[in-house]
This record gives sequence, structure tokens and C-alpha cells, in this order.
Amino acid sequence: MDLIEKNLISSGKAKSLYTTEDPDEYIMHFRDDTSAFDGKKIESLQGKGETNNLFNAFVMEKLERASINTHFLKTLSNVDSLVKKLDMLPVECVIRNITAGSICKRLGLNEGETLETPLFEFFYKDDALGDPLINDHHILIFNWANQDQIEEMKRITFEVNEVLKELFLTGDMLLVDFKIEFGMHNNQLILGDEFTPDGCRVWDVETREKLDKDRFRQDLGDVVESYAIIAKRLGLEIS
Ligand code: C5P
Repeated sequence: MDLIEKNLISSGKAKSLYTTEDPDEYIMHFRDDTSAFDGKKIESLQGKGETNNLFNAFVMEKLERASINTHFLKTLSNVDSLVKKLDMLPVECVIRNITAGSICKRLGLNEGETLETPLFEFFYKDDALGDPLINDHHILIFNWANQDQIEEMKRITFEVNEVLKELFLTGDMLLVDFKIEFGMHNNQLILGDEFTPDGCRVWDVETREKLDKDRFRQDLGDVVESYAIIAKRLGLEIS
């Protein structure tokens, strides 16, 4: 642990990143910290770090099996995973299958409308600015990514959506929307960061009960318990 603490390189809202002896690999440490509204609401939820680390590993392995390149290498403990070092692009890629969250506010839509086709959105990663919605032109003009990277991010995000929509359906759950991030590794665009219930919306297919981080945002309670239910329905037991 001492060694790990000495090598902290960055600490986000829910995860910390540490160097390893290999300059090409990092340790991603999942903490219990939970935040929403660009860091304005913060709480520590016991067991969330472990649940998210194991959930992320499970999803990343599913994506790898579907030929999607990710930075995930292996879990090191219940709360730590070894990942490839990426140079992250400062944009978030969101896909929506059903209306919820910011798009409802922005466009005056009702929650729960199924979209005819999945909707892709880019956001600029900047908490102080509230992660604003942007388009391809902003990304190109401000040099956050090039045209090839833009196309590749869109292509892979749609692919992730197809794989995970199916996966969640096997557990009688709807993948409403999600956010993923990409980075560069040896000139290759790779899926980075995490895929956990912190960064997606998942509803029960019948009751449409919210099982994701909206439970925290909307004070619905049983946040970590719900994350564990999602995992269990996908066949992953988290103690
Ligand atoms: O807030 P919004 O409706 O735009 O979020 C869309 C999806 O992206 C949700 O699943 C949300 O959890 C995720 N998201 C995220 N991190 C952000 C913004 C959104 O994980 N900074």
C-alpha cells in the first residue's frame, strides 16, 4: 500500500490512478466516494468501490470478447485493476436509447421515451463548466481530437451500445443511456476509464425501476445494493 500511495498520479471523483513499475501500465483504484452534479453532491457509500471494480472488470471482459479494445488488463484486488496507460481525450461519448437526464431538461422531453435509433452526443470534460454538450466542430477547432478519432469514437460507442444493450436484456434490464471515454495508446484509440452503474442508466424492463446512479442523484436509497442487483442479474455475484 505504501508503494501504491507514493505513486499516486491523479485522483478523480470516484477513482484514483497509480503508476506501476511498468511505465506503460497504471493501477485504477475504485474508492467508495460517490459524486453527482459535477461534484456538488458527494458521499462515501460502503462497498461501492468493490462493486464497481468487479462490475467494470466483468463488462470490459465482455467488450474485449466482442473485439472492442479496452485499457483493462486484470483485477489486482477487490478494489484495484491493472490498466494500460492511455492519453485520454477530453471528451465524453454518450449514447441514449431512451430519454432521461440532461436531454429531457435541454430539449423539454418526457423521461422514458424510446428513441427510434440510438442517439450519440459529445460532451467536453470540464467539471467547472458543467461538462457542456459539444459537436464535432468544437472538437476539431479546439484540437481535442482529430477527424479519424471522432469517427472511431462514434463507431466504437455504437458498438458498445449494441453489445451491452443485449447483455442487459439477458438480465431483464434496459440500458437507457451511458457515458464512455477514450484514450490513445501507441497511436491506437482505446476504450478507457470505466463502465459501471455510476456512468449509465439501467432500468428494470417491466417496472422501469431505476437501478443505477440516479438512485444516488434522486435520493432513492439502496445505491450499492442496486448496483449489486444489476451485477447479479448479469450473472456476477458480488458479496
Ligand atoms: O446527465 P446525462 O443525462 O447527460 O447523462 C447521460 C449518461 O452519461 C448517464 O448514464 C450518466 O450517468 C452518464 N454521465 C456520466 N458522467 C458525466 C455525465 C454523464 O457518467 N459526467
